[in-house]
Amino acid sequence: MSGLVFDSIVKKFGDFIAVHETSLTIPQGKFVCLLGPSGCGKTTLLRMISGLEDPTAGRILLEGDDVTRIPTHQRDFGMVFQNLALFPHLSVGENIAYPLRIRGGSKADCFKAVKRLLDLVQLPDMADRPVAKLSGGQKQRVAIARALALEPKLFLLDEPLSALDAKLRESMQIELKQLQQKLGITTIVVTHDQREAMTMADLVVVMSQGKVHQVAPPVEIYRKPKDAFVADFIGSTNLISGRVSGVGKIAVAGGTLRADDLPKSGDVTLSVRPENIRVSKDNGENSPGSLIGDVSYIRDLGASIEFYLNVAGQQIMAITTPSDRPDVVAGDSVSVAFPKDACVVLGDA
Ligand code: ADP
Ligand code: MG
Repeated sequence: MSGLVFDSIVKKFGDFIAVHETSLTIPQGKFVCLLGPSGCGKTTLLRMISGLEDPTAGRILLEGDDVTRIPTHQRDFGMVFQNLALFPHLSVGENIAYPLRIRGGSKADCFKAVKRLLDLVQLPDMADRPVAKLSGGQKQRVAIARALALEPKLFLLDEPLSALDAKLRESMQIELKQLQQKLGITTIVVTHDQREAMTMADLVVVMSQGKVHQVAPPVEIYRKPKDAFVADFIGSTNLISGRVSGVGKIAVAGGTLRADDLPKSGDVTLSVRPENIRVSKDNGENSPGSLIGDVSYIRDLGASIEFYLNVAGQQIMAITTPSDRPDVVAGDSVSVAFPKDACVVLGDA
């Protein structure tokens, strides 16, 4: 099996299960984000990959080889942690060369490698700078260069950008993504920031409370969330509960909605993204796929406009662009249309 494989991995701390039994495959060369709220087990999973934490049960395979019991320093992985762990008394070049020197690389080879790595992270001619004099973003790049010095098979990063301010973080996300594409190295990044995951990842692993909820490309996670946790954690959504009332039909408070992939009967929860809901002046019609509501308030954010609606006692949020803005004001009665393919049927969390 190519790539990195978790085979029934479990991690317990005493009686506490930090990672419930997990099996998944991370294909070689992909950029993967482990995404979830604080405390859900992301770091624990990453530390098991790196060998800093022993799994309680299960195996980790890399390119078919069982690496579960191989010590960290023999795993050939590059790592960057949130605190970066640079040597403050060494120069940029000495920091980057450090792993090469440990491996017994010659001075000339190290010099060449440092130059190549500094070019790669867009810090040319910085080798002699003291690390202490660098900005946050520059330190980040040095940590990345040092982690890549030994041309690792796997590149692991734990919340690497969380100490940076918002603008810099966004540009570093794109830089990191481009660097990964250039090198083609399998990369696993821990983050609790869904925008960060959406920006960088080929595959997002959504976790909560030690469990993996969904593994899929970012757009699929957004459009076809598997359960209510994923739907709610990634972007914003409207969760609407109802009961299957016919082929492709769900009875909900205030009327009937339509959806594909429904079970034959029983209760269901739908996720409907706010940008897919259409609001118009109440035309008195109450057909399947459309409900009557009224406007509680409107939030105009310039680039988008949010409509907070009361539909049969439930708060629903719809978003439009300024050019699609319906001609309604707070207090108006409105028709709220839910297109069939916008109603995503969720599974149990
Ligand atoms: P995340 O990185 O998603 O924020 P962690 O993997 O750090 O979460 O932690 C997952 C859970 O495991 C948390 O509840 C945390 O308190 C617990 N945990 C992590 N490391 C240890 C440890 N060494 N001993 C006991 N509990 C731990
Ligand atoms: Mg963590």
